[in-house]
Amino acid sequence: MIDPALPLCELHRHLDGSIRLQTILELADQHGISLPADDAEGLAPYVHIDESAPGLMAFIARFQYLSEVLVDADACRRVAYENVEDAQREGIDYIELRFSPWFMAERHGLDPAAVMEACADGIRAAERDTGVKANIIGILSRTYGSETCLRELEAILAHRDSVVAVDLAGDEAGYPAAMFREHFRRVREAGLHTTIHAGEADGPASVWSALRDLDAERIGHGFRAIEDPALVDYLAGQGIGLECCPTSNLHISAVPDYASHPIRRLAEAGVRFCLNTDDPGISNIDLAHEYEIAAPAVGLSPARIRQAQLDALEMAFLSGAEKDALRRRAATRGPG
Ligand SMILES: [Zn+2]
Repeated sequence: MIDPALPLCELHRHLDGSIRLQTILELADQHGISLPADDAEGLAPYVHIDESAPGLMAFIARFQYLSEVLVDADACRRVAYENVEDAQREGIDYIELRFSPWFMAERHGLDPAAVMEACADGIRAAERDTGVKANIIGILSRTYGSETCLRELEAILAHRDSVVAVDLAGDEAGYPAAMFREHFRRVREAGLHTTIHAGEADGPASVWSALRDLDAERIGHGFRAIEDPALVDYLAGQGIGLECCPTSNLHISAVPDYASHPIRRLAEAGVRFCLNTDDPGISNIDLAHEYEIAAPAVGLSPARIRQAQLDALEMAFLSGAEKDALRRRAATRGPG
C-alpha cells in the first residue's frame, strides 16, 4: 500500500507513453488524422495492452497512435501538461518524465529542440497549476545510432536548464551502451545526472556496461542483474537503485508472470529499487496499481513496498533541500 504520510514519487514514466485516449481523439479530430475508432471505448483496444496480447512488438505497435497525434509543438505542450495533471490525480508529489525528443519529433518532421522547449513549457505551467513537482529526463534513443544520438543530445543540451538527467533507451541488445561513451561524457560535463535502460532485453553485461562505460547512477529495469551474483553484490554495495516497472515487464513478456519477477530476490539481496509505471497510457495502469496490485503479486511484503516508496525519494534526482521539502509536505498529510 502507498503510505500517504510519505512522499509518492514516480521516477520512470515515458511522457509519450502516457497520452490520454481523449487527447488522442481530440488531436486527431483537430488535425484530420484518421483513427480506427472515434470514441475512447472503441480506441482503447488499439492503444491499451492487456495480458492477452503480450510481447514487445505488440507493445511497440501501440505507440503508433500516440506518436501520430504529436503533430506540432502545441500538441507536445498539451501532452506534457496533462502528464503532470495525471500525476496530481494519482496523488504523486514528484515525477520525473522522460522522452526522446527525436522520437517525438520524427513522425511529423518537427524540430527536436522545439519539442524539448514545448514539453518543458507544458510541464512548468502544470507544475504551477497543480503543485506537483516535476523534472525532465532527456532520452537518447539508441536505436537511431551513435551519430543521430549526438544530434539528439544537442537538442537536449540546448535546453539544459530544463533537464535533470539523460537516459539511454531503445534496442538494448543491438546498440550496446559502450557505443555512447562520448555522449555521456558530455552529459556529465553538462552537470546532468545519468540513468540507463539496461538489464531488461539484454543480460548482466549490459548493466555492467551502463555502470562502467556510462557511469549510470540508476538503472532502468535492471532486473536481469539477478543472473550475475557479482553484479547483485555490486548494486547492493554501491546503493545503485533500479527503477522497477513490473507490469510493463510483464506486458513486453520480459517476465512470464508477476510471481517470476526477479525483483523480490534482488530485494532480498539488499538491492535498492523503486516502483514505476513506464508507459501507463499503454499498460492502462497508474502508480497505485504498481504499489497495490503488482508489488504484492511480485511477492513483496508491505514493509518492503513501503521501503520502495522511501527509496524512490532517495533515488530521485533532487537536492537534499528539495527532498526535505517533499517530506515535510507529506508529513502534514499524516497517516491515511
Ligand atoms: Zn522505460
